Amino acid sequence: MAAATTHEVFNQPAPLVDVNLFTGNQAMQAALKFNAPSLDTKPLQALGAVVGSGEMQTHARLANVHTPVLKTHNRFGERIDQVEFHPGYHALMAQAVGAGLHGAAWGEGAPNPHLQRAAGFMLFTELEPSVLCPISMSYAVAPALKDNAAIYQDWSPGLTSRAYDPALKVWRDKPGLTMGMGMTEKQGGSDVRANTTRAEPNGRDAWGQRFSVTGHKWFFSAPMCDAFLILAQTTSGLSCLFLPRVLPDGSLNQLFIQRLKDKLGNKANASSEVEFVGASAWLVGEEGRGIPQILAMGTMTRLDCALGTSGLMRQALSIALNHTRQRKAFGKALIEQPLMKNVLADLALESEASTALALRLAHSFDRANDPHEQVMTRLLTPVAKFWICKRGSHFAQEAMECLGGNGYVEEGGEGVMARIYREMPLNSIWEGAGNIMALDLLRALRKADTAAALAHELAPARGMHPALDHLAERLPLRVEEMATEMEARRLAQDVALAVQAALLAQTAPSAVFSAFCDSRLAGQWGYSFGSLGAGTDFDTIIQRAMPR
Ligand SMILES: Cc1cc2nc3c(=O)[nH]c(=O)nc-3n(C[C@H](O)[C@H](O)[C@H](O)COP(=O)(O)OP(=O)(O)OC[C@H]3O[C@@H](n4cnc5c(N)ncnc54)[C@H](O)[C@@H]3O)c2cc1C
Repeated sequence: MAAATTHEVFNQPAPLVDVNLFTGNQAMQAALKFNAPSLDTKPLQALGAVVGSGEMQTHARLANVHTPVLKTHNRFGERIDQVEFHPGYHALMAQAVGAGLHGAAWGEGAPNPHLQRAAGFMLFTELEPSVLCPISMSYAVAPALKDNAAIYQDWSPGLTSRAYDPALKVWRDKPGLTMGMGMTEKQGGSDVRANTTRAEPNGRDAWGQRFSVTGHKWFFSAPMCDAFLILAQTTSGLSCLFLPRVLPDGSLNQLFIQRLKDKLGNKANASSEVEFVGASAWLVGEEGRGIPQILAMGTMTRLDCALGTSGLMRQALSIALNHTRQRKAFGKALIEQPLMKNVLADLALESEASTALALRLAHSFDRANDPHEQVMTRLLTPVAKFWICKRGSHFAQEAMECLGGNGYVEEGGEGVMARIYREMPLNSIWEGAGNIMALDLLRALRKADTAAALAHELAPARGMHPALDHLAERLPLRVEEMATEMEARRLAQDVALAVQAALLAQTAPSAVFSAFCDSRLAGQWGYSFGSLGAGTDFDTIIQRAMPR
């Protein structure tokens, strides 16, 4: 490299590259040990090395710089409705599918498949989150799709196989398949009851009742997926339908991509607007019961929002730690400056608490026959999606600031911070924005004895911190009394904080647990990160979070 002629370049930190993202993540390892002590972590160690490699980081950068391009027609003027991606995108997709982060958890019969997959999903997020949109939807679809047994039988081998095949072909000719979902229309995304897309009965065949669908979807991500679950109005009301890109006879379905969205972030992923003009689709579940049917899918994607944001937090924290331990200002490394220690330790607490909560929720799906876990799935899905994703953007801004101006530029290496920052708000918005999650929590409270289940969940941490005891005593009562809509966000926040604290009591060193409770529960905290009390054991917290 040619030397600068006017000055020597120094004090520019080396980027974090070629590290094992799993072995360097103590918070994740502790959470996995807590949830499933005998979990085989070898696949995660292998994945951690791959997703931390410079080679994969280059794919991630290129996939975000050379963004997807819509090709509506071929050179003969015929409609093809294809999206072209940079090869880096396909390399990332092949890795994610090969690691089993899509549907493999439903098919391979390994112990704790959802927890294992959740940890892998979090690690992969630290490499590139955009490709995880189709990966997440392909994972999430199984519980809903099972209600059309014939389709599930035909499609599940491809949805669970570890082969990635991006070609637009009939499902039976493909070794691997992906799926997406279409609910949101122009006039409403939260209130999907307003959907206007119509479905007319159009005969029966091996996949059951077939419909002809006419209408649109305003947000339709990863339109190159092989099929979608969509919502459309039949004479019985809103119904869930299976809509493949390629029909069983090999012809293209009547799905037309209008344009791709120009988004703040999530650049490598194509999000489209589509129209259906008499497209063929098959009923999944009961006609008129489309919302609960597709929410079986939405529950899993909401889990992934919490996992994904936790992964992004971990990535941002690792980059901030890597930078500040090398960069010097005012005579010492930034990480040695007391106020920077406070910021980094505070971010580390948030990251570990998010990791603990997201993986706790993921493990509830492995124990779906346990009544307590069923309540936890229902309770913690909106809570974790709400709180972790809400914290994400603030977290990313503060982690970016640790890098000063270098954090704000787009260039490779440390420039990944800008990408993380642009990605962060998305998990909070899609699959139900913050208010919708808080309102969903209120619905969850009506369904089961949530108060008793919450008390049971918090019990192992009783007597360990006065502020947690105080909250744990009152929270089940508040849950039982049912908050009003006006109070729903505050309740979601408090349930999240209480469960996070109880988990840290069981998984983290006392320095982490007590600092978390002092700051988040006992009020010894300001409104910004970096305002932990002076008595905090900063060094222990920071050392635990170090990426290598
Ligand atoms: C990049 C991207 C990709 C997407 N991909 C897909 C996809 O593949 N498939 C798909 O179906 N959708 C997709 N979406 C759409 C996304 O799920 C919706 O944008 C989201 O659900 C919100 O719906 P909306 O945009 O219509 O907002 P609105 O429903 O108009 O909501 C606006 C705001 O009002 C709040 N709100 C709504 N109702 C209430 C209430 N009763 N009380 C208080 N507050 C309320 C919401 O929380 C939100 O903050 C995608 C979105 C983005 C940004």
